[in-house]
Amino acid sequence: MAATDQQKIELVMGLRAAGIRDTRVLAAIETVPREMFVPEAFRDLAYADQALPIECGQTLSQPFIVAFMTDRLKVGERMKVLEVGTGSGYQTAILAQLCRRVYTMERYRTLMKQAETRFRELRLANVTTVLGDGGRGWPAQAPFDRIIVTAAAKKLPRKLLEQLAVGGIMVIPVEVPPGRQELLRITRTDDGFERESLLPVRFVPLVEGIAKGM
Ligand code: SAH
Repeated sequence: MAATDQQKIELVMGLRAAGIRDTRVLAAIETVPREMFVPEAFRDLAYADQALPIECGQTLSQPFIVAFMTDRLKVGERMKVLEVGTGSGYQTAILAQLCRRVYTMERYRTLMKQAETRFRELRLANVTTVLGDGGRGWPAQAPFDRIIVTAAAKKLPRKLLEQLAVGGIMVIPVEVPPGRQELLRITRTDDGFERESLLPVRFVPLVEGIAKGM
């Protein structure tokens, strides 16, 4: 067995032990080659359960966090999902295994181009990308059944709440002073929004506007 296969099995077993029970999510982790999303210098850590640095000072989330967020998002195969913060594209590729279409937004052109190349190489035909400010969402494609944000917001972005379908779920890290963040799950009901706190987390900040010159 190749070393990466063994590392992958160990990672998936660790995720299961850590409480990720949805077999579709675990299968997606097993299917997507994380080494393709990791910078060359960190290839040997592709299946370690840790966050890794990517270009533009951003971070590829730890596999546990990717699995946990995907699990709590309860993605169905007919769903339309909005992702804010494409980064490496790893979380996007996981979502693409589980739903009908992923619309993913990134504010750095460099990261978006690299992610697009990976999506092509993996032949992911159900991913649509855009360079843009994800805090504003993607009104032309709204409403979304699910929204996942992989950068920490100062407060819940109103535009994203508006673009969530009734019955829809959003998972988003939000800053809680002083200097902490928590992962929230928001469910849109007929008469408003329900809010659950899931986990203390650490994400790079959600920043307004498109990054200049990168
Ligand atoms: N899901 C990514 C995590 C990347 S880190 C992965 O698996 O690799 C979060 C990303 O959110 C960064 O790439 C950052 O540039 C991006 N981001 C931050 N604010 C944003 C905004 N307003 N709109 C779009 N992307 C944003």
